[in-house]
Amino acid sequence: MQAIIKATPAAGLDLADVQTPTPGPRDVLVRVTKTGICGTDRHIYEWDKWAAGRIKPPLVVGHEFVGVVEDTGVAVKSVNPGDRVSGEGHIGCGRCYCCRTGQTHICEYVDILGVDVTGCFAPYVVLPESNIWKVDPKIPDDHASLFDPFGNAMHTVMAQPISGKQVLITGCGTIGLMAIGICHAGGADMVIAADPNGFKRDLGKTMGADVVLEHADEKKVKEITDHGGADVLLEMSGHPQAITTGFKCVRHGGTVSLLGIPPDEVSIRWAEDLIFKGLTIHGINGRAMYQTWYQCESFLRRNPNLLEPLITHRLPFEKFEEGIRAMQNGTGCKIVLDWTDAKT
Ligand SMILES: [Zn+2]
Ligand SMILES: [Zn+2]
Repeated sequence: MQAIIKATPAAGLDLADVQTPTPGPRDVLVRVTKTGICGTDRHIYEWDKWAAGRIKPPLVVGHEFVGVVEDTGVAVKSVNPGDRVSGEGHIGCGRCYCCRTGQTHICEYVDILGVDVTGCFAPYVVLPESNIWKVDPKIPDDHASLFDPFGNAMHTVMAQPISGKQVLITGCGTIGLMAIGICHAGGADMVIAADPNGFKRDLGKTMGADVVLEHADEKKVKEITDHGGADVLLEMSGHPQAITTGFKCVRHGGTVSLLGIPPDEVSIRWAEDLIFKGLTIHGINGRAMYQTWYQCESFLRRNPNLLEPLITHRLPFEKFEEGIRAMQNGTGCKIVLDWTDAKT
């Protein structure tokens, strides 16, 4: 079958012919119809420090998908050929302390689809039955292919109450923008979003941000919020400066959820901005399995247009590089690839 692969330990991705995967007894074989290109795929494309340290070529990349079940292993009970499904791309080991105490999303031995194991940028992908998510018929394919990043946003938002709260979101990349939509739909009192990119700020407005700023600004945020700062900070940028300033913008007793990954150490005023304020901080990784998936599904059922403004490109899979370029130059947000015509 055709697939988008990382062929060698260097920049770029290639279209290549690879072996179609076969499902083990507890696995499900999915005929992929749509996939989303993630920031992670861009890191792999660019072969940055993280990618070079983690990826072992050759590898089929990609982890955001929707498709139709083609075949199932003999021990599979809850999934049938013809089911329309997406899937959780983090495959927990199932044996460690975290996995056995309902915290599979922070399994130390996790295998990630398209990072550690064969991914979904291909007409077929295999996943364990436990990772398969049957998609509600009300949710269209293009949106269902985005459960993974939408789940990151959902997990970050849902780490604390946001209804009736004044929320600051630093970073309006895809996941930050999704978080704006979730806070808006989830009854936040005010959503303040910060991003230096004007195109992303405009999308932030479309997603329901009440105020957009080029940078989180302590004075400004304290001025427009009711209790001397944001009740909640959702840090989605990973930018050290945004993190430092973000903490300054949170009110005493506020909460912070951190999803953005900084390239290096970050400095914050430990005493003033953390201890004396009595902040509660959540580090967010992946999606809670599977509470986040249920939350995503109910939000998409109730808010059928929530994700639509974020899909800036719909491309046939062969044109994936056009999508990556658009992400690189800041004109693309979510890129959805169509695999219907791929050679199997
Ligand atoms: Zn992703
Ligand atoms: Zn584990």
